[in-house]
Amino acid sequence: MKQKITDKFLSLYGEGGTMYASAGRINLIGEHTDYNGGYVFPGAIDKGIMAMVKVNGTDKVRAFSLDYNEACEFGLNEEDKPSKAWACYLFGVCRETIKRGGKVKGFDTVFAGDVPLGAGLSSSAALESTFAFAVNEEFGNNIDKFELAKIGQSTEHNYCGVNCGIMDQFASCFGKKGSLIRLNCKTLEYKYFPFNPEGYRLVLVDSCVKHELASSAYNKRRASCENAAAAIKKNHPEIDCLSDCKRIWLDEVRGEIPEEDFLRAEYVIGEVQRVLDVCDALERGDYETVGELMYQTHFGLSRLYEVSCEELDFLNKLARKYDVTGSRVMGGGFGGCTINLVKDELYDAFIAAAKEQFAAKFGHEPKIYDVVISDGARKL
Ligand code: ADP
Ligand code: MG
Repeated sequence: MKQKITDKFLSLYGEGGTMYASAGRINLIGEHTDYNGGYVFPGAIDKGIMAMVKVNGTDKVRAFSLDYNEACEFGLNEEDKPSKAWACYLFGVCRETIKRGGKVKGFDTVFAGDVPLGAGLSSSAALESTFAFAVNEEFGNNIDKFELAKIGQSTEHNYCGVNCGIMDQFASCFGKKGSLIRLNCKTLEYKYFPFNPEGYRLVLVDSCVKHELASSAYNKRRASCENAAAAIKKNHPEIDCLSDCKRIWLDEVRGEIPEEDFLRAEYVIGEVQRVLDVCDALERGDYETVGELMYQTHFGLSRLYEVSCEELDFLNKLARKYDVTGSRVMGGGFGGCTINLVKDELYDAFIAAAKEQFAAKFGHEPKIYDVVISDGARKL
């Protein structure tokens, strides 16, 4: 990929470019906790975006996407928004940098990536953080990493029509080889934990389905959580969000809130604790406990939060059957991937079975993505 980018850059713009890269991400545990002020626990992966960049002395950005084999040129004023979707990510990053007082002028770039698009590994965050980092370096803006993540997030909000949280861009900017990052979504405090699962592999099994329910169900889940938190707050006014609640405080309001809301809240409160328990286990190097907690999360997402689906439950059950250490649905649910922690020696049998048995039942093979926890945004 590096060579292809360099060759294309030379042929289009000549010598003198600098290479930057950033990464997609996984989230080991901590699902549907972000909007409840809880923890998420992401890490950057060995799949990402690479871009060669050179300031060109004009007021125009000239970009070439190798994966789409398309060029796009655009100016840097608000009315210059390009029509190509991929270019809007670059444009948005430039605009959001300017909005924060940063200097941005014209530059030339060729870029490519290997994060599967729309598979839940956040190729868009990889793209944003690569360019947020590159623009910051090239124009000497000295914007801190957290703000670079927010530049990516605001790009999604203001130029790509995606109302996302901060996790993806945060993981992509702060990612570090061999580390996961626990982020407190309320305070934005974060802490690195070691993730070096020697003897295990981390693999995503992509069901390649996306059920339509996702967005309406998401809003309903949020409403249930807010309702449960509001009921608890009557007894415990000090809380700001569901993540602040103790389990026994939830039991106090059982009967006052719909049973459905109770179950949703039960999942969230349990999940916040599981993130903490996973962190403890990682500090001990206890990957078996990590895996067991992943299964618990899957159970909660499936039975209490009810955001799983037949395909994902099937993959989770299959993982158990093949002695996979940990497995759970990753992301919002209703489709997408399961994330699996599997012993080296069990990997081949599990993957073969997942392909074969999933295809026999659902008519198509799942896609398999091996991931290693790696560095995020950087200059190469
Ligand atoms: P994801 O879950 O992977 O982030 P999104 O729909 O949010 O999915 O982002 C995918 C979009 O990001 C693509 O449609 C494209 O516009 C842009 N993108 C991601 N990776 C690349 C790439 N390698 N080259 C060009 N554009 C890319
Ligand atoms: Mg995205």
